[in-house]
Amino acid sequence: MNHHLLIIGEIHRGKVEPTTFEILGAAQQLRNKGVEKVGVFFGSGKINIEELQKPLQFGANYVYGIKNPIFDELAFHQSTQFIINVIQKFKPTIILAAATTRGTTLMPYLAAKLHTGLTADCTGFDIDSEDGSLLQIRPAIGGNIMATIKTRTFPQMATVRPNTFKPIQSEYPDSTLVIEEDSTTYSSGFIKNEFIEEDHNLDIAKAKILCSGGRGLKNATNFSHLEELAQCLKGCVGGSRVAVEQGWTSFPHQVGLSGKTVSPEFYLAFGISGAIQHLAGMQTSRYIIAINRDPEAQIFHLADFGIVGDVLEILPQVIRILKQRKNK
Ligand SMILES: Cc1cc2nc3c(=O)[nH]c(=O)nc-3n(C[C@H](O)[C@H](O)[C@H](O)COP(=O)(O)OP(=O)(O)OC[C@H]3O[C@@H](n4cnc5c(N)ncnc54)[C@H](O)[C@@H]3O)c2cc1C
Repeated sequence: MNHHLLIIGEIHRGKVEPTTFEILGAAQQLRNKGVEKVGVFFGSGKINIEELQKPLQFGANYVYGIKNPIFDELAFHQSTQFIINVIQKFKPTIILAAATTRGTTLMPYLAAKLHTGLTADCTGFDIDSEDGSLLQIRPAIGGNIMATIKTRTFPQMATVRPNTFKPIQSEYPDSTLVIEEDSTTYSSGFIKNEFIEEDHNLDIAKAKILCSGGRGLKNATNFSHLEELAQCLKGCVGGSRVAVEQGWTSFPHQVGLSGKTVSPEFYLAFGISGAIQHLAGMQTSRYIIAINRDPEAQIFHLADFGIVGDVLEILPQVIRILKQRKNK
C-alpha cells in the first residue's frame, strides 16, 4: 500500500509549533516502508510564508495553508469543515496530529465526521508487513504494556505524543507551498467561545530547563526548594510519580510513562532512582544531571553528569550559590 500521510500542523503566534516537526520526523521513519507522500496542513489567520516553508526542510512534500482567523479560535466544529474539504482534496490514507490540547480536541471530532477510527497519544508507528496498513503503538493499561493498534477504517488517524520523535532534516526536490485565503464562515453551535492562553512557564513539556524531584527529597518542604531552583534557572518543576502521589507536586508536573514526555536542554533529577517508567518520559533530554546518594541508581546509566551525594545538602547549596552569583 502506498501511503499519503497528512499532518494537521499547529501554529502558535504565527510560528510553527515544534510538535509539527516531530510528527514529520515520525513520518520520515516510515518513508521506506510505504509512506510515499507527506503533506502538512495549516490553518490560521496569521500566516507567515517563511514559517510555513520550514516543514519543507523537514521532509514534507507539500504544505497547504488556509488563511482564516477561525482557526485561531477553539471553534473546532467550524475549522473541521475546512479540514474535511482539505481531506477530500488530497485524499490522505493517514492523518496525524499532535496530542496537544488542540489536537486532542480536533481529532476525535474530525474522526467522527469521517466515520473512521482514531488512536490517541501514540509513541511509535510501523507499517504492517502483511497488508501495508499503519500500526499505531502506544502505552496501554496504565503503561504496563505497549499496545500495537491497527484501525481498520481509512483514513487511519492518530494523535502523536509530543517530545517522542525527533525532527529529521530532509528536502524533496518538487516540494510545494500553497496558501489560500478563505473567509468562509460556517455556522457556530457555540453561544460564547473564549480562548484562554495557557501559561507556557508551567508547561513542563515545553521547558528548556526542568528541575525534577523524587522520593529522595523526603517531604513537601524539601520538594518546594525545587521551585526556588527553577526560578533561579528560569526553568520549570517536574516530579516522579512518587512526588505526585505524595502530593508534593501536581499531576501536570509528572514526568514519565503515565505523565508527560519531556525533552528539555537540561534535566536535573534530584533523588530520583530512574525507574524505567520515569526514564521513558525524559530520556530524550539533551543533558541529564542526576543527584542521588546511591551510586548504583539507574538514573546514573543515562546521566551525562552525576553527583553521588545527599540531595538535602546539595540542593540548598546549589540555590545559595546561584543566588549569590545573581546578586553580584
Ligand atoms: C504502570 C506504571 C506507570 C508508571 N508511570 C510513572 C511515571 O509516569 N513517572 C514516574 O516517575 N514513575 C512512574 N511509575 C513509577 C515508577 O515505577 C517508580 O516507582 C517511580 O518512578 C519512583 O519514583 P522515585 O524515583 O521518586 O522514587 P524511588 O524509586 O523510591 O527512588 C528514590 C531515589 O532517591 C534516592 N535518595 C533517597 N534519599 C536520598 C537523599 N537524601 N539524597 C539523594 N538521593 C536520595 C534513592 O537512592 C533512590 O534512588 C509508574 C509505574 C507503573 C507500574
